[in-house]
Amino acid sequence: MGIAERYEETSREVAAICQAAGRDPLAVRLVAVSKTVGAEGIAQAIEGGATDLGENRPDRLMEMHDRFPQVRWHFIGNIQSRRIRDIVGRAALIHSLHEERHARKIDEAAREQGIVQDVLLEVNVSGEESKSGTAPDEALALLRCCEELRNLRAVGLMTMAPQGDPQAAREAFAGLRELLESLQGELPPERREGFSQLSMGMSEDWPLAIEEGATLVRIGRRIFSDAF
Ligand SMILES: *Cc1c(COP(=O)(O)O)cnc(C)c1O
Repeated sequence: MGIAERYEETSREVAAICQAAGRDPLAVRLVAVSKTVGAEGIAQAIEGGATDLGENRPDRLMEMHDRFPQVRWHFIGNIQSRRIRDIVGRAALIHSLHEERHARKIDEAAREQGIVQDVLLEVNVSGEESKSGTAPDEALALLRCCEELRNLRAVGLMTMAPQGDPQAAREAFAGLRELLESLQGELPPERREGFSQLSMGMSEDWPLAIEEGATLVRIGRRIFSDAF
């Protein structure tokens, strides 16, 4: 099976899991994480129907955005101040904001471009030291900072679950959903619908994430590696 077929199969499975979980398949977006393949692999995913692709390095985002401008690009990597100008505007959605100083820089770069940049707040739900993200009890302060900025719009939360432990992954996903609900309660009613995205679930655990309410799943190896 090639990349196009694996994309199609994954997309069908996402819809099937949604159905089984009693969720609308249109409410979950599949982000194909293409960081391990070249332009040829990306072209195959697009042929298979991919509309949303994710990259974790600014140089790759720039290159692939320019080659495939029709794609909705997602930035899922570590944010560095000096690369923020390269990401803003190219990424339809930045999944990995977890520092106030970066929020301010993204806002500034977006203002210069005359756009509003959508972002997700990355939260370290499991508390693993190796993971980036804001602590759950600091997410409200970060959200309040974002709400002050006019050219940045926080649209939800993102997390990475512990790998290799399905129960721990499910708990992390459920924890992110609960945090989203509690943060929505802090926002004015008219902002709640716009702060409702949950980016969670990767190749090993995406079905659990959908069951727990994911609206964006980020899948790499399941689509791009024939060894997975
Ligand atoms: C690489 C990556 C993914 C995809 O992981 P797979 O296990 O290959 O599906 C998802 N999210 C982030 C943040 C990543 O860096």
